[in-house]
Amino acid sequence: MEAMLLDRPGARLRLAEVPVPQPGPGQLLVEVAACGVCRTDLHVVDGDLTDAKRPIVPGHEVVGRVVETGAGVDRFERGQRVGIPWLGATCGQCRFCASGRENLCDFARFTGYQIDGGYAEYTLADARYCFPIQGAYDDAEAAPLLCAGLIGYRTLKMAGDARRLGIYGFGAAAHIVAQLAAWQGRQVFAFTRAGDAEAQDFARELGAVWAGSSAERPPQELDAALIFAPVGALIPAALEAVAKGGVVVAGGIHMSDIPSFPYRILWGERVVRSVANLTRADAAEFLALAPQVPVRCTVRRYPLADANEALDDLRAGRLRGAAVLLPGSGLAAAVQL
Ligand SMILES: [Zn+2]
Ligand SMILES: [Zn+2]
Repeated sequence: MEAMLLDRPGARLRLAEVPVPQPGPGQLLVEVAACGVCRTDLHVVDGDLTDAKRPIVPGHEVVGRVVETGAGVDRFERGQRVGIPWLGATCGQCRFCASGRENLCDFARFTGYQIDGGYAEYTLADARYCFPIQGAYDDAEAAPLLCAGLIGYRTLKMAGDARRLGIYGFGAAAHIVAQLAAWQGRQVFAFTRAGDAEAQDFARELGAVWAGSSAERPPQELDAALIFAPVGALIPAALEAVAKGGVVVAGGIHMSDIPSFPYRILWGERVVRSVANLTRADAAEFLALAPQVPVRCTVRRYPLADANEALDDLRAGRLRGAAVLLPGSGLAAAVQL
């Protein structure tokens, strides 16, 4: 099969012909139909996240169909459409797992980081961490739900019942969260790079009541702010925009350093917090909710071999919504299993 491999941090991904893996006990072999390109993939490629398996097949927004099940798998059957998210394995034993916080597991392993992911024609996954993908989504449109959607949803939950919600960085996660938040009756204020009129128009189309640059103050104080851009300077900017008692939630896995800021902008019981990974409960909740809204994903499709171009477009902010790779494209059928 074809796979895109990262040999070492900082390298371009390399298209390689590798054997189709065979499922072990508890695993699914999935023929990948679509794999979203997430900002976390950039952090893996750039080496901001250390400890990546080498070589690694990136990609943790995987939608595909089960072609084989390993021994003991009874939740899925051949042909079924499944999603494979970032959370690939947990220990089930540590104090975080034992208290409903498997997202914080000391021994968690992640898809496309420590476990080969979806930038390939086939991938293996532990069936316990996979989800059926239902609803009217085509494969490419479903892919961004698996991380931008799931972790975006967890980030939104941390905003509590905030009515006026700021969203900083209007990429894949924001474009999903904005739809959900508007559907919940919240007012969404979208903050983009200065001068990015296209992203601001996009935010308004998706239900934002206001869109502007992240250097601007919104017309009203916010009750909460979600930050999806990997820019530490947005933390004090968002703190200045939230009202007393408000929360600023950083939804990304990596961020540049946060500049020091005066205590007065935290005063008034404002809170700064991060969100790490996802639990399977988050996934089940969000995947049930998304078709009700319905959340619509705007995607740009790329052939698997163009993964580097997709990453470049994400890095440069050239995307509207999410980039999605489409492996297979006819070649998969020729592979002998
Ligand atoms: Zn654990
Ligand atoms: Zn992700």
